[in-house]
Amino acid sequence: EKKLQELKEYISSYPDFPKPGILFRDMFSLLRNPNAFKDLRDVMVEISKRNIPDAQAVVGLESRGFLFGSVLAIELGLPFVPIRKPGKLPGELNKVTYQLEYGTDTFEIQKDAVTPGLKVLLVDDLLATGGSLKAGCQLIEESGGVVAGCLVIMELVDLRGRDKISQPVFSLLEF
Ligand code: IMP
Repeated sequence: EKKLQELKEYISSYPDFPKPGILFRDMFSLLRNPNAFKDLRDVMVEISKRNIPDAQAVVGLESRGFLFGSVLAIELGLPFVPIRKPGKLPGELNKVTYQLEYGTDTFEIQKDAVTPGLKVLLVDDLLATGGSLKAGCQLIEESGGVVAGCLVIMELVDLRGRDKISQPVFSLLEF
């Protein structure tokens, strides 16, 4: 708990970015401090091992989910699989289209990366409205996998994004 409070202090906040009225939380300021990044890694590993011990793969959402997901995959000794925006992944793909504030977006995953029943730990940097994480869960499950749990570094609790997600969601830092 003390470590989490210390880590929170490394997160910078930018008012009116990328649009007026948005308070943007930036974790790259934390990554600039090697000891803080190491502590963050340790906390991610501990929470994942304790709460999602049966995970068989780590799936990261583009693009900051790649950063934290790959660190976690190495530490847990699990495969890392990316979920990407359209047109970036080769081969046979599964896709999901989801609603944004204005318009829609699509996520893609490589079909052969999700074997039937694969238990997945889904990782992203931040949970806001929950639209991205929900779409990620849907894509994994439509591909035949099972979302054993979701892990985000930061959660904007007032937006109640976790209410949209039926799988267990674990967050490290609440704002
Ligand atoms: P959601 O789909 O509304 O939950 O938004 C989550 C996605 O938007 C994540 O992939 C985040 O990377 C990004 N995002 C939303 N707000 C912030 C922020 O304040 N800082 C960094 N990323 C954000």
